[in-house]
Amino acid sequence: MTYIGVEIRRQVIERAGNCCEYCLLSQEDSTFSFQVDHVIAEKHEGETVLENLSLSCPNCNSYKGSDIGSIDRETGKLTALYNPRIQSWGDHFRLDGPVIEPLTPEGRVTVRLLRLNRSEQIEERRGLIAFGRYPCTQSK
Ligand SMILES: [Zn+2]
Repeated sequence: MTYIGVEIRRQVIERAGNCCEYCLLSQEDSTFSFQVDHVIAEKHEGETVLENLSLSCPNCNSYKGSDIGSIDRETGKLTALYNPRIQSWGDHFRLDGPVIEPLTPEGRVTVRLLRLNRSEQIEERRGLIAFGRYPCTQSK
């Protein structure tokens, strides 16, 4: 894995508003440091450039791994994961309280593969919502 320099990491964090770009958790509300994710993994020749990096919480990043797509159950088609660099979160997902609901095939494969609605996460989000801390507000 390519080393991500301090400056590029800072830029990724700033662009994301310190939010996980998949589940919208704030890094401030996480026990663990967020990770710089290659949207298109290096094994698929994704480059270590700002245009291919996103900020991801450890949960989202570990389930995403080096995957770039999955089979959408509704269409049966190979479908790319949501790409926060070229797509807008609100076009592919919406929040129903603490639950992330997919709106598109890309949204569906992303919710399933990254397990965005595990019960622990829903509970955590419910707590954060009560404190006005979820969703994390992205600066874009
Ligand atoms: Zn996340």
